[in-house]
Amino acid sequence: MAHMSPEEFRKQGHAAIDWIADYWTGLDELPVLSQVAPGAVRRSLPASPPETAEPFDALLADLDELVVPGLTHWQHPRFFAYFPANSSPAAILGDLVSSGIGAQGMIWATSPAVTEIEQVVVDWLAQALGLPEQFRLTDYGRGGGVIQDTASTATFTALLAALHAASDGTARESGVGARKWAVYGSSQAHSSLVKAAMMAGLGAESVRSVEVDPVTQAMDVTSFERLLADDIDDGWTPLFVQAAVGTTSTGAIDDVQAIAEAIDGVGAWLHVDAAWAGVAAVCPEHRDRLLSGVHLADSIVTNPHKWLLTTFDCSVLWVRDRSTLIDALTITPEYLRNPASESGAVVDYRDWHPQLGRRFRAMKLWAVLRTYGLEGLRAHIRDGVDLAAYVEELVADDERLELVTARSLSLVVFRHVGGDEPTLSAMHRLNASGVAYLSHTVVEGRAAMRLAVGSWRTTRADIDTTWAELQRAL
Ligand code: PLP
Repeated sequence: MAHMSPEEFRKQGHAAIDWIADYWTGLDELPVLSQVAPGAVRRSLPASPPETAEPFDALLADLDELVVPGLTHWQHPRFFAYFPANSSPAAILGDLVSSGIGAQGMIWATSPAVTEIEQVVVDWLAQALGLPEQFRLTDYGRGGGVIQDTASTATFTALLAALHAASDGTARESGVGARKWAVYGSSQAHSSLVKAAMMAGLGAESVRSVEVDPVTQAMDVTSFERLLADDIDDGWTPLFVQAAVGTTSTGAIDDVQAIAEAIDGVGAWLHVDAAWAGVAAVCPEHRDRLLSGVHLADSIVTNPHKWLLTTFDCSVLWVRDRSTLIDALTITPEYLRNPASESGAVVDYRDWHPQLGRRFRAMKLWAVLRTYGLEGLRAHIRDGVDLAAYVEELVADDERLELVTARSLSLVVFRHVGGDEPTLSAMHRLNASGVAYLSHTVVEGRAAMRLAVGSWRTTRADIDTTWAELQRAL
């Protein structure tokens, strides 16, 4: 059997990095949105695995021909759909080192550095964003943060902790029981909230969809208060309230402070979903808007893997009371017992999320925080915001277009004044051209285009190129 020798690994590793660097250099020339037909990639591959070993070069050689045409290029400078999924050079190298180390950090004892570097970097990030002290992992406090794969998992995890707290610990032993639990989010809350309720066994019907203000698209807190009071009268137990700081559709920001005040004394867990927008708090000028009221929350999640240059997956969940989370999820089979865990002096991150095994994800975030520094990260966020402000001006200057909601950080949502058909057909023509890629949404029943800036490679020239193509498509 032929494992790669260290020399061969070095050689192929250089070739793989060369391929990535060349891929980036050539991205500008590629259509952003993949244009292959369904099944085309599959049909181009052999139906069965090779019986005899192939050299790694053979795989590298297939990338350009078989893989690249089937890719939508998320690192393309004119990828403006969804939110960015930045994979910066530093993060990639950090991730590579993590793969090379190949450690499982499920408990402190299985690799102390995996746990302790994670503790430090999530705490650094909390400081960088100016998060309230309660979320920091200090010797005197109760809070702490953990890297999860996605915001969806983080929200699910927070919901499990809430269920544990609200059931006085009985949910983990006996399940959700007959109590009527209610979960709240605005009509614009990410679908991962409903999915979390489904996975927790509460059912999608436990999730109340609270109306939003038609202009700001933020939760209408008066409607929320009314719904809450009606639910309590009808025998429901309010369990979990999600406030969105930067909704997916329009970047709307809920009033966390007002939501927290509405549930004061109710006993529900307040979770802040700042998956996309939260990292912009690295810039002090955005903090008041993004973090107002967050000191009243029980948990908050944000994704460095979206806008903050950290290769997917890296989502950070902070909780105010780590012991609730740990008590909700801890389970110790005999083979994981060890003196360090029993001493209580260490953190075992397996108790902080659903899965046991965990990668050294902190390595890539560490690489990003160190090689960009906070100055570099602020500059990156500000670039995205400035470029989006430029798009906003371009929309304002074109009488065929109008903004649908006020620009939120680096997200611009706009439409054709002529209605849904011209809006969507212009967007489809632009996307089909391959020049840029935008996504759509529906706001107050009307279609709109979303242009989310945030890639580390986007320049003003990319906005101009996109705009010129959009003019042709309108
Ligand atoms: N919350 C918001 C506001 C989002 O925009 C998204 C994804 O875009 C998510 C949650 C889900 O993120 P993830 O893919 O990390 O689960």
